Amino acid sequence: MADRIIVTGGAGYIGSHVCVDLLSAGKSLLIIDDFSNSSPEAVRRIQELAEGDIRLLKSDLADPAQRERIIDAARDFRAQGAIHLAGLKAVGESVTEPERYYRVNLGSALTLIDALKATGGKLIVFSSSATVYGDRNKSPVDETGLLGPTNPYGRTKYFIEEMLRDLHVSDPGWKIANLRYFNPVGAHPSGRIGEDPNGVPNNLFPYIAQVAVGRREKLRVFGDDYDTRDGTGVRDFIHVCDLARGHRAALDHLAREKAPGVVDVNLGTGLGYSVLEAVAAFKRASNRDIPYEIAPRREGDIAEIYANPSKAKALLGWTAEKSLDDMCADHWRWQRENPTGYGE
Ligand code: UDP
Repeated sequence: MADRIIVTGGAGYIGSHVCVDLLSAGKSLLIIDDFSNSSPEAVRRIQELAEGDIRLLKSDLADPAQRERIIDAARDFRAQGAIHLAGLKAVGESVTEPERYYRVNLGSALTLIDALKATGGKLIVFSSSATVYGDRNKSPVDETGLLGPTNPYGRTKYFIEEMLRDLHVSDPGWKIANLRYFNPVGAHPSGRIGEDPNGVPNNLFPYIAQVAVGRREKLRVFGDDYDTRDGTGVRDFIHVCDLARGHRAALDHLAREKAPGVVDVNLGTGLGYSVLEAVAAFKRASNRDIPYEIAPRREGDIAEIYANPSKAKALLGWTAEKSLDDMCADHWRWQRENPTGYGE
């Protein structure tokens, strides 16, 4: 069994939902987070939503000066594995500051590997992304799709996947799951935890939510001349609680199997919705107007991508259960009840 788990980036958007899910399943957690894009308030709320054993280490995994401290904490915790979510994630920023993205994302993964080596817990569930597929696949994309990320952020995800494969070659005792997320949205149904982006949101749902709540004037829809149903981009939106459950399914799979090796798994619903369909669904859920204008295509965007999620079902026994309406209702509840997020 793997019951003592490090969650890096555990205070973040996906991390906070993963922590609630794992605690509810009886796991003990060591959260490592530097709060550079998250809040200690999220950890407080995780504890409010789920009882259980949490330790918190405020540390930057990419800072060499903190490496020993992190290794000591992992050893002291007797970690049996990790869910690795810490990292920088803004695509545009990664294009202007590539070295920072490589240093932070690759450096953090390496420190985590060192920490796990110190504890003997050779198990990692890694937060990868559908962005590793690049733009040359026809949807639905399965795990054999062509890889080819188109920006530095995506390449850090791809390189970490490869690094973990090499780690497994060097020592087949390692058990690895690369979880390729599609578009995580929504929030915990309690309305207590959710996405709290720094500054102007890059992603569609947080932007829509801030328009609905009146924090921003209107959404810009990036392109309405794609070769899709209504001309706008099509994505596989997945409820963050389904995604969180997928991490637990992956963890349990790795723990249970004697030699699972390295598994790459899509976490998506298998359904594609367009930007305008998402706007309409959010409007229904919130009963608010979502003004928008059509803007030029955003550089680097592709017309359409959605998952073939059958491997997750066959291997992990996991499928997404929540609908687009659930995603919008829960995202809206979080936004309405926390109009300024965790608010510092
Ligand atoms: N999008 C948009 N306006 C925004 C943000 C996103 O029209 O303010 C579109 C974007 O062009 C893409 C979809 O919404 O077609 C999802 O974008 P997001 O950044 O959320 O995720 P991505 O799929 O790029 O990872």
